[in-house]
Amino acid sequence: MSDWEIVIGLEVHVHLATESKLFCSCSAKFGRDANTSVCPVCLGMPGVLPVMNRKAVEYAILTGLILNCEIPLYSKMDRKNYFYPDLPKNYQVSQYDKPFAINGYLDVDINGFIKRIGITRAHLEEDAGKNIHDESGKGSSFVDYNRTGVPLLEIVSEPDMREPIEAFHYMKMIRQIVRYLGISDGNMEEGSLRCDANISLRKKGEVELGTKTELKNLNSFRHVQKALEHEALRQKKLLEKGESIVQETRLWDDGKSKTFSMRTKEEAHDYRYFPEPDLVPFTFSKKEIDHLKEGLPELPLMRKKRFISEHGLPSYDAGVLTDEMFYADYYEEVVSCFPNKKMVSNWMMGEWMREMNAMEKGTQKSPVTPIKLAQLLTFVDKGVINAKIAKDVFSEMFAKGFDAKEIIKSKGLEQIGDREKLKQIVSKVVDENPQTVADYKSGKKQAAGFFVGQVMKETKGKANPKIVNEILKELLS
Ligand SMILES: [Zn+2]
Repeated sequence: MSDWEIVIGLEVHVHLATESKLFCSCSAKFGRDANTSVCPVCLGMPGVLPVMNRKAVEYAILTGLILNCEIPLYSKMDRKNYFYPDLPKNYQVSQYDKPFAINGYLDVDINGFIKRIGITRAHLEEDAGKNIHDESGKGSSFVDYNRTGVPLLEIVSEPDMREPIEAFHYMKMIRQIVRYLGISDGNMEEGSLRCDANISLRKKGEVELGTKTELKNLNSFRHVQKALEHEALRQKKLLEKGESIVQETRLWDDGKSKTFSMRTKEEAHDYRYFPEPDLVPFTFSKKEIDHLKEGLPELPLMRKKRFISEHGLPSYDAGVLTDEMFYADYYEEVVSCFPNKKMVSNWMMGEWMREMNAMEKGTQKSPVTPIKLAQLLTFVDKGVINAKIAKDVFSEMFAKGFDAKEIIKSKGLEQIGDREKLKQIVSKVVDENPQTVADYKSGKKQAAGFFVGQVMKETKGKANPKIVNEILKELLS
């Protein structure tokens, strides 16, 4: 971008994983038949009164705490004018000047470099429903109110990001955190996490911000990055031609790889916020907030650092294993029983994750418990079975839930480590293949691999490969 500086701020919307909606007892679960999770409260019937969901407030404050925010001891809900059919009350209950969390920050890992992004605020609001437009040409539209009133936490960052890649990592980290806290599944395909991005350009060295545009409803990490990259270029071209940027809301068309204008931005006062008269303001004691603070989990980035220092793992391994709290917990349980930490990491990143990823999406329970994996690895470590056979045993443990010991015993998979016995087999293979011996002796060292393969075939994969290689070396030298 040469002499231009990009300025990006994100508003991330997180669906909170509460059982019920924000102000009524309707289920907040995704994926029900249209308009089956509704009641007079979320349909905005006259005379109904909202009742605040306690869990949603707790989740909002937990998020604020983990984002290093101040939690004001007084906060309240406000009404925001909203004239669209997907919110039948014609207003949205949100928070205006007294949100649950303010003035925080998040340290984001951008390919090993840590950047601190300011958090302006986090506030709670109700989501709108979903308009469904009939595409048959008859011009009719439908509304599904299941999502109406589902609790939504909006996390607003400071305009601290300078590259689209930073926005990508920031959003990833927000997803990781809400999953760690267990307050949202962070499922972007189902809309549990989406983001609006504000972007403007200014000449390097300038302090004042340029005119921004808002990119709405970005629902994948890749879209966030691509849309911002595209928008930065579009603004740069206009500015270099001497034209000005129109403050507006734009949408990202992934198929065409470009943004297009949706509407010019309303000013904040158009929303005409006023305090929600049907809900009393919230007051908290410092003790209540401290109590919530004590229950916070170790953050992914802190845990990653600890995995490097305490378990001696490479940064890459530590990053993969702390990506989900469930992975990290599992790892630490395995290494508490089996101390070869890098071997556990390799197994988890290889076999274990492959099997887990093949399971139903979102599964957080491994059929092979940490203790059972530790037992299997102990058998490999002691030379009872070799690594290749261990992989087959593992697949069977995963599918059927048996112990490694049962499978090894019932199938007679113990490794053949008897040197004399192996020597007979290796000699036989060598005698049967004089041409390969000649090749080996003429310098084709890869011929040794052929012999190992033949020995494995003879022993149904059970030979100890280390001993086979030693014998081969003796015989062929
Ligand atoms: Zn309801």
